[in-house]
Amino acid sequence: MEQKRCKNCNSIIDSKDKVCPYCGEKQKEDGCLIGFLIILSVIALSAFVLFILIAVGAFIL
Ligand SMILES: [Zn+2]
Repeated sequence: MEQKRCKNCNSIIDSKDKVCPYCGEKQKEDGCLIGFLIILSVIALSAFVLFILIAVGAFIL
C-alpha cells in the first residue's frame, strides 16, 4: 500500500485517502498530472514518428 505525507499536518497517510484522517485536509491527486504527462509524451512521440516518416518519404521521393 502506497503512503504519502499530508501537506497540512505531515502525517503519514494512505495515498488513496482523499482527505487526511488526522486533520481533515483535502489531498491533491497526482494522478491527473501523471496522466497528462503520459498523453503529452505520446503526442510528442507520434509527432516525432510522423516527422521521421515525412523526412524519409521526402528523401525517397
Ligand atoms: Zn493532515
